[in-house]
Amino acid sequence: MPTAVRALQGDITQLPVQAIVNAANATLLGGGGVDGAIHRAAGPQLLEACRQLGGCTTGEAKLTLGYRLPAEYVIHTVGPVWHGGDRGEPALLAACYRHSIEIAVAQGIRSLAFPSISTGVYGYPLALAAQIAVSTVRAVLKEFSGFDEVIFCCFSASDLQVYQRLLTAPPGAQPAPV
Ligand code: ADP
Repeated sequence: MPTAVRALQGDITQLPVQAIVNAANATLLGGGGVDGAIHRAAGPQLLEACRQLGGCTTGEAKLTLGYRLPAEYVIHTVGPVWHGGDRGEPALLAACYRHSIEIAVAQGIRSLAFPSISTGVYGYPLALAAQIAVSTVRAVLKEFSGFDEVIFCCFSASDLQVYQRLLTAPPGAQPAPV
């Protein structure tokens, strides 16, 4: 069965998937946006677990449990800050999606939800980031067969529109992942 890849609008902390991805910062010690929401919903044990991880570099990802979240696991990844696009941002953002999926595969995770990494405080233009998100996830999923479902969890209706347009376009209509 091919993995179902879809987008929805919602709060990622509420999703009944096996793992959610956190758009964290390099300290992994919490922050604003989706990171803050995940820590609030998971409770203080998540911060304790993150303290043991020693931070995370941009484009990498690390695993914790989900504690009070419906999700069993959280995969913390650090997206690039947008500086205009010529400081390696596309490759770093693609690496976040790839490494998150690789961690999920190693853990036997079958359902996974991503937020729109880097498109909040880190300033990555949504349309560009969504293109990388969709094309990278599609490409990486071709390498692994263990997933039931991958969800792009959009916080706003306008973000959802962008993701849905990309997901309904034929894969060949998108630029290759970087
Ligand atoms: P970054 O620092 O990587 O830009 P942000 O958390 O500021 O991370 O934003 C990343 C994306 O997460 C944005 O599109 C933002 O709207 C979205 N977001 C914020 N809170 C939530 C939430 N509870 N569920 C899903 N997405 C969220």
